Amino acid sequence: MVYKRIFPFFLIIFFSACIEQGEFSRTEFALGTVCTVTLYEQGKNSLYNDIFSRIREIENLMSLNISSSDISRINSNAGIKPVSVHENTFKVIERAVYFAQLSGGAFDPAIGPIVSLWGISGDNPRCPSQEEIDKILPLVNWRNIELDANANSVFLTQHGMSLDLGAIAKGYAADAAAEILKNAGIKRGLVDLGGNIIVIGEKKDKSPWRVGIQNPYGNRRDFFGIVHTDEKTIVTSGIYERNFEEDGRFFHHLFSPFDGYPADNGLISVTVIMDISMEADALSTAAFVLGYEKGLFLIESIPGVEAIFVFNDRSVQVTKGVEFTITDNTFFFR
Ligand code: AMP
Ligand code: MG
Repeated sequence: MVYKRIFPFFLIIFFSACIEQGEFSRTEFALGTVCTVTLYEQGKNSLYNDIFSRIREIENLMSLNISSSDISRINSNAGIKPVSVHENTFKVIERAVYFAQLSGGAFDPAIGPIVSLWGISGDNPRCPSQEEIDKILPLVNWRNIELDANANSVFLTQHGMSLDLGAIAKGYAADAAAEILKNAGIKRGLVDLGGNIIVIGEKKDKSPWRVGIQNPYGNRRDFFGIVHTDEKTIVTSGIYERNFEEDGRFFHHLFSPFDGYPADNGLISVTVIMDISMEADALSTAAFVLGYEKGLFLIESIPGVEAIFVFNDRSVQVTKGVEFTITDNTFFFR
């Protein structure tokens, strides 16, 4: 573990260099977030087109906001009948259910009713009454998702249930984008789908990649530290992504399926570093909701997974294999 002070603006320059080099990178809004792919000198229009059409294909299958998506069709048939879906959607739901089980239900793709009750994804979020939460919470239960691998079909057994793949689909899309890059023989690249980052290949000078981690209390692209890594995915779940204040109280978008409220355990972000972005996406959400001790236990139970935990007193804990430098000295290692 290295602790060096580097002024944040170096990092911003580093990122601007990655992101703003015209033909070297492309940014589009998809999957409800800003998606940037950077291919440096190997960037070609046709390749960017392929990557972004694949991302849109995944969005069309898995978005809650598209009424013809697989997810919308599954949700509107909750308690009615199983729905056959694209094999990509089936795979993501199957993995989501796997991580639901692995995390003891902290990660739950059936979180939909709670997410919509709080209105956290829309323009008018609000804190619901305890009565409303109590009424809806029993619908949040991954055990009531029935999967049929032969028919690629998904059935939500209770009327009113709904899936929300917001905590895993971006990771899947990032993996899909990275696969296209690798198949195209791209030697180095950076995929960033709203904070789901994958770095591919080696940097030109063979030095490790330096990836800035969002300051959970800062503005967008305001980093508080840098991960030094080789070819990996770096995925963060944090309170900054979607939140609102009501009557002086702060609420964010990472819900505990156990009580129906935003997880309130002292964490403000969790970053997971590993090989598969879809898994890192599920695990960062799961570890956040579980809290530090149980989250760390989950992370350490899986080989090849590292994590950075950030707490509301600005302290930071990292697992053994992480090389992380704090660049904003209001943060500190515990
Ligand atoms: P992420 O930024 O990957 O942690 O995903 C957050 C999004 O996942 C939220 O905006 C919700 O749509 C959804 N979500 C919130 N809480 C949970 C949970 N406990 N399990 C699964 N998905 C969740
Ligand atoms: Mg996630």
